[in-house]
Amino acid sequence: MFKKGNQIGKQTRLGPDWPGQRCGARTRAGKPCKKPALRGKGRCQLHGGKSTGPRTEAGRARIAAAQLKHGRLTKERRAEAKRRAEVGREIRAELKDIAARAVAYGWLDPDWKDQFKD
Ligand SMILES: [Zn+2]
Repeated sequence: MFKKGNQIGKQTRLGPDWPGQRCGARTRAGKPCKKPALRGKGRCQLHGGKSTGPRTEAGRARIAAAQLKHGRLTKERRAEAKRRAEVGREIRAELKDIAARAVAYGWLDPDWKDQFKD
């Protein structure tokens, strides 16, 4: 604990004589931030020193891979499901049209679907 006169660890404490680089930000109280700056950043983690995300394409791909859980809802998979649904709608519309024509030509009974009931 920090008791009066305690010299243990004094070099590593962040008091007024601390030799390291401070965060250069101004606080909401108008005073300079006293927290130590993150290495190579000049700001603490509260004032913009933390990572703002991957920059390179490889880094972005690595994060995307880390975020992927099962791949069932990727953009590609959803686009493919949408396309398959559209193909299904086209096929059903075509079958409906064929059945209507077959009924019109007398090749099918108007209530031909009833034979598949129960
Ligand atoms: Zn700060």
